[in-house]
Amino acid sequence: MSRSALVIGGNRGIGRATAVCLADRGDRVAATYRTGDCPEGTLPVRCDVTSGADVERAVKEAAAAHGPVEVLVVNAGVTRDRLLFSMTEEDFEATLRTNLTGAFLAAKHAARGMIRNRFGRIVFVSSVVALSGEAGQTNYAASKAGLIGMARSLAREFGGRGITVNVVAPGVTDTDMVAVLTEEQQQKLLGRVPVGRMAQPGEVAAAIEFLTRDDSGYITGADLPVDGGMGMGH
Ligand code: NDP
Repeated sequence: MSRSALVIGGNRGIGRATAVCLADRGDRVAATYRTGDCPEGTLPVRCDVTSGADVERAVKEAAAAHGPVEVLVVNAGVTRDRLLFSMTEEDFEATLRTNLTGAFLAAKHAARGMIRNRFGRIVFVSSVVALSGEAGQTNYAASKAGLIGMARSLAREFGGRGITVNVVAPGVTDTDMVAVLTEEQQQKLLGRVPVGRMAQPGEVAAAIEFLTRDDSGYITGADLPVDGGMGMGH
């Protein structure tokens, strides 16, 4: 069945691959962007997830074009890595605002239509570091761990209404976010990955797509690692 899907942060990396994957299976996909462009065959919607008004408008634009949002993927994320004593309050709060508050806003605005239609699939893109932690990522890891608590709370809230809420936790994935690391930093990270390589964005997208299928309705509150064994299932 063709669903109305909205990918928040659908212009680059994992989000772009997810928008393509959902469009390929026949969904009507709206993808948000601040910079660049969105994949062909998707509806581009400008949205800064730190703005509640932007998120509300993005959900409305997607619904006006494709019908009420049935599949919501919240992928937008940023890093501002610093060791604790160099990390400012601004570094901490800006990261939480994008990665966690943004997901709260997106879920809140998209869920209304899902409740009315008694069907919904929500996926938050977290990270392997949510549960393992990482030096220099106090802000990022806290935001990504927050997504798990939020997903599980919403999974309980919406459980009886045909809406599932899950988390995908990527490990080291070949996108702009990792490209900014030095070769030495990348090799150090890969040394902790049993599979011995980075994930391709499409491999993370495939896990997200799986959780949004009609017949994945009995999976909710899950935290699905796509990390080459880096977190060993936690
Ligand atoms: P990229 O840096 O390639 O993409 C980040 C995405 O987030 C872009 O679409 C970007 O849009 C969007 N975004 C950032 N800030 C905002 C904002 N304020 N409002 C709207 N959109 C925003 O990273 P990845 O594809 O690697 O990351 C995707 C997700 O996966 C993130 O949540 C990240 O934390 C997570 N992740 C990535 C890992 C990796 O190794 N790559 C590992 C674990 C988790 P724009 O271009 O407009 O800035």
